[in-house]
Amino acid sequence: MDFNTKIIHSGSVVSKSADVSPPIHLSTIYEYLEPGVTAAGYEYGRYGNPTRAALEACLASLEAAPEDCPALCFSSGMAATDCALRLLNTSNKLVMARDVYGGTRVHVEKLLRGYGIDITYANAQIPEEFAAAICPSTTMVWIESPSNPLLSITDIRAVVEKANTVGALVVIDSTFATPYLQQPLLEGVDIVMHSTTKYLGGHSDLLGGALICKDASLRNRLYEIQKMTGGVASPFDSWLTLRGVRTLAARMRVHLENALTVAEFLTNQPQVAKVYYPGLPTHPQHELAKRQMRGFGGMVSFELEGGRPSAERFLKSPKLFRLAASLGGVESIVSYPRLMSHVGLSDLERAELGISDGLVRLSVGIEEKQDLVEDLQQALNVVI
Ligand SMILES: *Cc1c(COP(=O)(O)O)cnc(C)c1O
Repeated sequence: MDFNTKIIHSGSVVSKSADVSPPIHLSTIYEYLEPGVTAAGYEYGRYGNPTRAALEACLASLEAAPEDCPALCFSSGMAATDCALRLLNTSNKLVMARDVYGGTRVHVEKLLRGYGIDITYANAQIPEEFAAAICPSTTMVWIESPSNPLLSITDIRAVVEKANTVGALVVIDSTFATPYLQQPLLEGVDIVMHSTTKYLGGHSDLLGGALICKDASLRNRLYEIQKMTGGVASPFDSWLTLRGVRTLAARMRVHLENALTVAEFLTNQPQVAKVYYPGLPTHPQHELAKRQMRGFGGMVSFELEGGRPSAERFLKSPKLFRLAASLGGVESIVSYPRLMSHVGLSDLERAELGISDGLVRLSVGIEEKQDLVEDLQQALNVVI
């Protein structure tokens, strides 16, 4: 079945009332036939819920997980990340891409390090450097592709090959890509993580996270952790996410088209020093993105000439692009990494990651593209 058909039909549960759209099951408790024997496989809402199960079946199908391996859905992307990182024990070794999501890095620094886990950061865009950081004692490798905010692409297969030689688990934060653009389990990745808050939900009205695993035994280890720690997706958020996912393909087609138009427009503007979009031939990993992804995504970042003063002028001017955190919704969003997503980093850390004071990040929505270009044009006119 084609991906575009799967996203409409997978995870549809046929209930006694024959609903076409899965209902929201609010009950937190489920009847037993006799002690120890459930009537329908559910016991208690933290352990499982039919609405959440519908979403979990859907996301597993979209990521091409095995039949017996539904996704695990969480109350946020960070709850999903936390669950995956809890696979690590004292003296385990984690190799992490240095440009992962800010919250992931904070979690690793403020919690994991304190548990005695050995953490190494490496540049995942230089395959030799990243491979060299993976050593025989490495237990887990964590990558993110495309990355935030510079939209760098990591060669997933190269990372998997190296990790396999030492038996390390590979986890990818695939939030920016969604399963519409890449299915990392098919490249040999062990765990795919999503913040469903972004494109999968798609409407900036829910928080959620998901883990999708390559095999059932790994999934069961994570399920036990999820059961203990309890950061599960609520029935309502699960339902909203499933509803959002149904239009993923339709939304992504427009996101991709609009983002390319915006990236090409920005490339030709004198106020713009540099544009970051994997779909541009000038992007350093453009060829890799073409090979590894089915499209280049809806995020575009760019650097303004004139640094922070230019950025501050620019950010006051858009009328359609709303100044806000987050991304992946139907509406266009502009954000300023220097004072928003990456404000917690030191000047040196930002410089190391290539996040300048003139850098602006766009989540290009699904409005009419000409309106978006005109909005950016009038905002750029204010810069000089
Ligand atoms: C937003 C985001 C997260 C965290 O997800 P939440 O739903 O905010 O907890 C993790 N990774 C990436 C790439 C994100 O964009």
